[in-house]
Amino acid sequence: MVWHDLTKRKRAEQLIKDGSERLEEAQAIAHIGSWSLDLASGKVHWSPQMFCIFDFPFSEHAPSAEQIIARYHPDYLEAHNTRLHETVVCGTPLDIDLPLIQQNGQERWVHVRGRRVKGGTGKDGFRMIGTVQDITERIQTEEALNRANAQLEEHLRFINEQNTLLEAQQLELKALATTDGLTGLKNHRTFQERLSEEFHRVERYHPSLSLILLDVDHFKQYNDSFGHPEGDKVLKSVSRILKSVTRDCDLVARYGGEEFVVILPETDSEGALRAAERIRKAIEEAAWTLRPVTASFGVTTLHMNTESPQALITEADEALYAVKRNGRNRSQHYAIMGGSGD
Ligand code: GH3
Ligand code: MG
Ligand code: MG
Repeated sequence: MVWHDLTKRKRAEQLIKDGSERLEEAQAIAHIGSWSLDLASGKVHWSPQMFCIFDFPFSEHAPSAEQIIARYHPDYLEAHNTRLHETVVCGTPLDIDLPLIQQNGQERWVHVRGRRVKGGTGKDGFRMIGTVQDITERIQTEEALNRANAQLEEHLRFINEQNTLLEAQQLELKALATTDGLTGLKNHRTFQERLSEEFHRVERYHPSLSLILLDVDHFKQYNDSFGHPEGDKVLKSVSRILKSVTRDCDLVARYGGEEFVVILPETDSEGALRAAERIRKAIEEAAWTLRPVTASFGVTTLHMNTESPQALITEADEALYAVKRNGRNRSQHYAIMGGSGD
């Protein structure tokens, strides 16, 4: 009977030994140590892995509370102590991440968990049990990720800035490519593109489309009398007048030299002639200081036989030429000079 009991006990002891060995292995692999603290006596018990994590030489006895606390990073000590106090007094579970400073000055992050349980020494004594896990690698990975993220954001910001800059430059280039340098009006190419667009749009929807071509009178003489820079001022003033007396939907462009062109969408021949006269009068009546300035106007309106945008320009040019022949400073519609009616 005694022999039988002895065998049973030995087997039980062997089982416990095997179990705690396996637990130790598991703790070593997971970098987790377990601990307990008897609140009445202040006695601490550590599993072997705790010594590794806190960088103490392995011993049967855990270091003193002071020795352990001395390992905590001073900046986190107060938070740790407050939380520990709450656990001891109120039973709130302890759960905190903090760095340790090891003997060699190296920093390691740990996740400390603990809870208050019964079973301590003394009458109705409590003890605390918990774990400490080395989470340095996780924290380092998180820090590296944060750094990479910050870098990525910095790169993205830079790319966005470059994109905005590029877009602004492209807009500026586009504006430069479509604008006449001297007058700021649309240039000849833009006029041709817009006329072609309007021409084809009209073919589909059949609204009226008119064109005004105007040419400053005796401009060579003006340059000869007052110099090229003064001539430039006239061209700029004419441009300003053109912009101010036309509609936003009209396209005003410098056709070339001292010739300008206005595309008038949805405008019939009477409307176009009225518009030309309005511009002509505005130029004639402007406060010219050196000498009166006038211009001649050729006007045309799209009709059944207009074959191309180019044909419209030719008609306006013919009307303009007729005005030049007949004394200048007048507006002439192509339809009222024996051309095709609209
Ligand atoms: P017309 O009444 O028959 O149109 O006579 P005009 O002298 O205006 O016409 P012409 O074609 O003989 O001369 C046009 C002048 O316009 C000649 C040219 O030097 C001048 N001109 C063309 N472009 C510019 C420019 O950008 N600035 C200045 N100042 N003059 C220019
Ligand atoms: Mg000319
Ligand atoms: Mg001229």
